[in-house]
Amino acid sequence: MGKKKILEQVSDMAEQIGGLYEQLGDLKNRLGSLLEENHRLTSENRHLRNRLDAETNEDGSTDDEEQVTDKTRDIPGEGYDNLARLYEEGFHICNVHFGSPREDEDCLFCLLFLNKTK
Ligand SMILES: [Zn+2]
Repeated sequence: MGKKKILEQVSDMAEQIGGLYEQLGDLKNRLGSLLEENHRLTSENRHLRNRLDAETNEDGSTDDEEQVTDKTRDIPGEGYDNLARLYEEGFHICNVHFGSPREDEDCLFCLLFLNKTK
């Protein structure tokens, strides 16, 4: 293989890597906003369920109330587990560094976020 050919291939690869890196940044941003939205919806959901609970209590009905509390326990728990797993696997889950490797150091923002979500 001639030197020129190798140089061409190297610059091709560099271009491809640049493109992939851009895509990765894009995905990270989208994942970040999805997570934010999920967080917001979870809070809103919890808030609405609490209100529903309060109203159901006023009516004195107990059957519906039990179903509602079961669901409230399920939904945030699952999201929390996923985030906790991601953190355990060594990635940031905080808004500041979301998706980047932690390099075996605990991150205060991540820990705060985990505590908030729990
Ligand atoms: Zn972090």
